Amino acid sequence: MELIIASGNAGKVREIRAILGEKFESILSMKEAGIDHETVEDGSTFLENARKKAREIAEISGKAALADDSGICVDALGGAPGIYSARFCGHHGDDAANNRLLVEKLQGEENRSAYYACAMCLVFPDGRELVAEGRLYGKIVDTPAGEGGFGYDPYFYLPEFGMTCAELSPEEKNGISHRAKALHGILEQLD
Ligand code: IMP
Repeated sequence: MELIIASGNAGKVREIRAILGEKFESILSMKEAGIDHETVEDGSTFLENARKKAREIAEISGKAALADDSGICVDALGGAPGIYSARFCGHHGDDAANNRLLVEKLQGEENRSAYYACAMCLVFPDGRELVAEGRLYGKIVDTPAGEGGFGYDPYFYLPEFGMTCAELSPEEKNGISHRAKALHGILEQLD
């Protein structure tokens, strides 16, 4: 069976290929499959958004489609920014502005606990679906460290590693990430 990954993010496609590669005849990104489609992410949970993306791409392509949705949930902010993580600052995908706002909102706050969350949904051509979720727990720090990763990683400190997510190698991050955990959840169900 062929699988389309409902994402334009090359890093995600690489990670998904590395984990699910043997289970499918071929794994194509939307671009490789010639699909140009933007899903309106108007769900109220990570899972609703992932499911909507996967269902739309499965319908358009007639093939199996896998989608994820992820973000950061900060305890002291009541779980915000959550599904709004990419546009926390008001516009989409401005990591520097998102991080500035996050640190600003936590000034004077002692509780720095947070987690990254990821929901994955795999929809088959006949409409059946598999879902899985993964989390990575950490703490938000005021001073960034590390050059790797993306998004909130330089401010997301992992106590058990003694460093931020941006200081991990890609392999280390892929080994523990919320996305990898969700993906392994899908893999277990495929087995
Ligand atoms: P999306 O699921 O690719 O739309 O990601 C949503 C947003 O959540 C990203 O733009 C980042 O701001 C944040 N995010 C999700 N996963 C990570 C991660 O592994 N590191 C840092 N930021 C993340």
